[in-house]
Parts: sequence; structure tokens; C-alpha cells
Amino acid sequence: MPDVDTRPESTDETDDDSPKMFHYVRKNKIAESAVMGTHVVALCGEVFPVTKSPKPGSPVCPDCKKIYEGLLPGE
Ligand SMILES: [Zn+2]
Repeated sequence: MPDVDTRPESTDETDDDSPKMFHYVRKNKIAESAVMGTHVVALCGEVFPVTKSPKPGSPVCPDCKKIYEGLLPGE
């Protein structure tokens, strides 16, 4: 059974208020990042630090979305 225990995380590449893209990241990686201070790797392969929560309405990374939906059971 695939691990679908993920949650969206946004990249934090800029300091402006423009919408940031969500990436799906495995929760255990987020916890590891919080403890170790490491970057997380999204389903699509994007690597970034977890520093902010995603803003509602931000666009979802199409690659992450496709991969995430592919992991969902009952497809
Ligand atoms: Zn992504």
C-alpha cells in the first residue's frame, strides 16, 4: 500500500505576498526537517525548506498533484 500520508507545503522563495505554489510533501519528511533543519523533498522532486504554511488559494504544483492523485487508493 502506498504511503499517502502527505500534506501540501509551499515553497518560500520570495518575501512578497504573491501566491506561492503548493507542493505535496510527506509528513515524516516535514517532521524530520523540523528536527534536523534539513530541506524537504516534494513528490515532484522539488527541494525546499519548510518555513511557512501554505496560503489558502495558492496554486498547487501540477506535478505533485498528478503524483499525489496517482498514489490515492481506489483509482
Ligand atoms: Zn511539486
